Amino acid sequence: MRGRRLRTLERTALRRLRLRFCEPELEHQFLLSYRAAARPWIRVSLVVALSTVLGFTVIDHWLLVGARLARPDIWRFGLQLPLVLIMMVLTAPRLYLRWYQPAIQAAAPLFGVGTVLMAVEATPAQLPLVAARLLLAAFYFYFMLGLSFSAALRTNLLLIAAYATAALLGAIATPVAIYSLFVLLCANLIGGAGCYALEYANRVAFLERRRLAEVATHDGLTGLLNRAALEEQARTLWQQAQVARLPVSVMLIDIDHFKAYNDRYGHQAGDRCLREVAAAIRAAVRRRPLDVVARYGGEEIIAILVGSDRAAAASAAGSVLAAVADLKIAHSASTTRPCVTVSVGVSTVEPGGEYSHEHAVHEADTALYAAKERGRDGWSFHEPAPADAGDLPHGDGALLKTAS
Ligand code: GH3
Ligand code: MG
Ligand code: MG
Repeated sequence: MRGRRLRTLERTALRRLRLRFCEPELEHQFLLSYRAAARPWIRVSLVVALSTVLGFTVIDHWLLVGARLARPDIWRFGLQLPLVLIMMVLTAPRLYLRWYQPAIQAAAPLFGVGTVLMAVEATPAQLPLVAARLLLAAFYFYFMLGLSFSAALRTNLLLIAAYATAALLGAIATPVAIYSLFVLLCANLIGGAGCYALEYANRVAFLERRRLAEVATHDGLTGLLNRAALEEQARTLWQQAQVARLPVSVMLIDIDHFKAYNDRYGHQAGDRCLREVAAAIRAAVRRRPLDVVARYGGEEIIAILVGSDRAAAASAAGSVLAAVADLKIAHSASTTRPCVTVSVGVSTVEPGGEYSHEHAVHEADTALYAAKERGRDGWSFHEPAPADAGDLPHGDGALLKTAS
């Protein structure tokens, strides 16, 4: 069951052949998380690259004695070593996410061209030895640099093209060139397949992680954030609002006579109703980036509106009532209206007030209770302490009720 759901998810989200998510935002998030996770490995890989460049310097000067050592040293110290050092610098935390990927896409092919140039400089007797380095480079590009499959493939095709061009220009003896190119092609088939499978598995694992996170933080019936995730987010949300000195409004929304609805139409119809009401509320509450709408429990939904003062909260509460009424879900067992309605309790914390999630929810709950007392299908404000009540509109009591 789990496997089938994941396969459906893969089919809809992932373009298999192109190794790309259909949604650009999903692709962006995958690349961000993949690249962030790859950074420590890439740093190790670059140390490995540095060691191989220096290791081949020693071994070349020791084993490949002859006239043709000066030019390879130019490519080695003038091209490959600086490239590795620059890439090492670009793995610094402040530079990495912005610069590493664009730079490596240019640096890897250049490094590869350096390896080909060094192969060209070798004497005929040394050529087979030096050509073995091309294999190392091919596998290195596929697995060690955090390149995507397509970038690694591009880099390797360029390496093959550079080597073939050198052979065509007569810089490499034909039998050696043919043999080396064949070995290089085989290495690409093996390395490319492995790299593709690895990236595909990484993408599927990313989807799976997202799905698990979604299940853990969202309510299965309504798709809204669940209570646990709400409490988790609430702490930071209130802190941010306090620091930015923004007003925060809390709305507790409860479906009227919902028990009677279940009794009349059945629990499954109740579930459908709850789902529709939740979707209508989510759409009605204009959400800024920090705002949260969650299922608070049973048939209660909570909205925390950051940056909403009393006037904005009043307007949001009015929109919620209208959106649910617009659904026109018949409710013949309701003593309030012939269709499903909600009651809303609102509490607003103005800058300088008590920025406490628990306190504000408690106040919204008191206001919700008052809205129910006043006949349902309406909303109530929780009023501030009497000392602040002077600026209330004339004639309001302890609770201010509008729409009904
Ligand atoms: P009030 O107008 O005072 O809010 O009355 P009410 O009947 O809505 O309130 P009450 O607390 O008496 O009943 C809430 C009902 O909501 C009882 C419960 O069966 C139903 N309910 C809670 N969660 C779900 C759910 O997930 N699905 C369904 N179908 N019903 C649910
Ligand atoms: Mg209710
Ligand atoms: Mg309730």
